[in-house]
Amino acid sequence: TKITDHIKIANGKPIFSIEVIPPIKGDNLKSLLDNIEPLMEFKPPFIDVTYHREEYIERPMPDGTIQKIVTRKRPGTVGICAAIMHRFGIDAVPHVLCGGFSREETEDFLIDLHYLGIDNALVLRGDPAKPFTTFKAKENGYTYASELVEQVANMNRGLYLHEEDTALAPSNFCIGVAAYPEKHFEATDHASDFRYLKQKIEKGADYIVTQMFFDNKKYLDFVDRCRQEGITVPIVPGLKPLSTRKQLQILPKLFHLEMPDDLVRAVEACENDQQARQVGVEWCIQQCRELVAAGAPVLHFYTMGKADNVMKIAKEVF
Ligand code: FAD
Repeated sequence: TKITDHIKIANGKPIFSIEVIPPIKGDNLKSLLDNIEPLMEFKPPFIDVTYHREEYIERPMPDGTIQKIVTRKRPGTVGICAAIMHRFGIDAVPHVLCGGFSREETEDFLIDLHYLGIDNALVLRGDPAKPFTTFKAKENGYTYASELVEQVANMNRGLYLHEEDTALAPSNFCIGVAAYPEKHFEATDHASDFRYLKQKIEKGADYIVTQMFFDNKKYLDFVDRCRQEGITVPIVPGLKPLSTRKQLQILPKLFHLEMPDDLVRAVEACENDQQARQVGVEWCIQQCRELVAAGAPVLHFYTMGKADNVMKIAKEVF
């Protein structure tokens, strides 16, 4: 089922989804799935599975030379999607990246998803490959998410990359894209960020998921501005319950966002992480209640491996 259809089916009733990250290579998938299982009681209609691009590592060899290795720390996105669909009987939304793929590799990847019966894809540019700090496309790959959106939308029309035959089986992906209520860190200003977001919609994106935010005003202002700009698709707020004192510093740096003063003061007054987590969960519950009242279509939680926080929130809100 497409995300846009899940939203229609919910018909204003609050629903939520979560995002999971593939385990580090070699780790077991079972603990990830066991961890999210209790959430199924609340019937989340879909789960997103992130994708992690390759990294470049340097390994010292016994002969003193340095070997450069291209590796993926967290492979397995497609397999995890299949496992989620199989075990929980709900939709899985793979994240599909520009970074690290040529357009031909992307086409094959999308065909795999289509054959698995996956109806949704969250299309992203991806972050720079570590240890680099600027994004570089793979040869014959894409520099911006909008280009990848166009490829998926073309496949939905039966237009494959190098095939002339117009009778090719079309895919049927509902396409999601990312957006940043507090601006993408590379964008020179909000205006250009909105212009490029609109481009992603014009090329075929069906819904938006936002970066996390801790101040609902940022989301609500963002939605207003989108509507003014003529962006009419559903805008799903991304939420993260703060769970340690350290995250007060880490999250703003990592995700380029501001923490509201009230939350900072409340967390700073905590004596330990257990108290901080309590504050974070309560803050998030408050955010959720306001967002539901404001008509947010789905609340999307970045679990970062901690589904028990979302469990507490789900009990209060859904
Ligand atoms: P784009 O939409 O391509 O935008 C990137 C930047 O380029 C922006 O500053 C934009 O304003 C600018 N821009 C866009 N088009 C143009 C143009 N034509 N000319 C000039 N400038 C332009 N990363 C992962 O690696 N794996 C994941 O699974 C993942 N999941 C995510 C899920 C969500 C909901 C979000 C919000 C982010 C996720 N990310 C993930 C992070 C994401 O890959 C990064 O934030 C990345 O830096 C930008 O991706 P994007 O798709 O928003 O890029």
